[in-house]
Amino acid sequence: MPESPRFDEIYAKLRRMLGGHAPDAELRYKAELASHILQLKREKDAVILGHNYMEPALYHTIPDYVGDSLELSRKAATTDKGTIVFCGVRFMAETAKIINPQKTVLLPSEKAGCSLAASITAEDVRALKRRFPGVPVVTYVNTYADVKAESDICCTSSNAAAVVESLNAPTVIFLPDEYLARNVAQATGKRILFPSLVATGEALPLDTVQLLGWHGRCEVHEKFAVEDIVAIRQEYPEVVVLAHPECSPEVVEAADFSGSTSAMIEYVQQTSAPRYLLLTECAMGDNIAAANPQKEMLGLCSVRCPHMNQITLEDTLASLEHGRYVIDVPEEVRVRAAQAVERMLAVGQKD
Ligand code: SF4
Repeated sequence: MPESPRFDEIYAKLRRMLGGHAPDAELRYKAELASHILQLKREKDAVILGHNYMEPALYHTIPDYVGDSLELSRKAATTDKGTIVFCGVRFMAETAKIINPQKTVLLPSEKAGCSLAASITAEDVRALKRRFPGVPVVTYVNTYADVKAESDICCTSSNAAAVVESLNAPTVIFLPDEYLARNVAQATGKRILFPSLVATGEALPLDTVQLLGWHGRCEVHEKFAVEDIVAIRQEYPEVVVLAHPECSPEVVEAADFSGSTSAMIEYVQQTSAPRYLLLTECAMGDNIAAANPQKEMLGLCSVRCPHMNQITLEDTLASLEHGRYVIDVPEEVRVRAAQAVERMLAVGQKD
């Protein structure tokens, strides 16, 4: 592959950031891929959005914007480019399509799904609405478009509590992440119940419950345990532990800080602990360490997201070369899902 004009610049950046951790041949290979991607991106009038969980060589080279789901949703809503390449998972690319119906949205891998998004269907939501008529539905953005379409408003981990409070409703259905729902209940002082875990026909004490949840879980964050934190604190007494709100309430309680991926990054950048442990997809700690070599990051890297890790530089190059994989959302679903996403973005802007 011939080297494009930006190769030297990218290679120098990767060498500076990852030099102590990857062999030179690997850095050259990735810099070549990245320079081709950037060249194609210009030619095809594309913007690349990169989630905080992308691997360091991708994260630090090709995205125009990096961030958490909410930040990337906002960027997707304002881009003037004709094509959006989403280096993230399918539900994120769908969200970009929902708010940009005229644009081409590409996801570099067909296999980039999500256990949370797969935990609930549109029919599940319709059944809940039949069971609890008139109760508003808040849906985490980690869901597919047809589930969003059945919702009143979406939320992300960074604005979940604000979205629930914005409804001013006595009871709210909050889907589909069990742990995020429990953490929101704790943060807002609400009592939560899980109708999907109660036998049909059994009476529910709705007059004393403010949140109705679902049993979905992130297959990454559900694996972290309080014992992990205890063991790490024994080995590194000064460690500062950060947990994503998709972790269990017990883990969040045992951590020093809990927030969205971008909130965790900001926390590490603005504090100066001897070392940090991030309880989230391990690539994020690598990305912080690459950009902040003075920070010591610990990771539990045996726990990985198999979906986020589907997105590689190779697949992103192929995505731009071949225009794949195109994300489409049926217009009838898209219009209703867009209302839920736009309501969420409006709540965020009032923060
Ligand atoms: S980390 Fe969890 S919530 Fe995020 S994409 Fe992977 S499985 Fe889904």
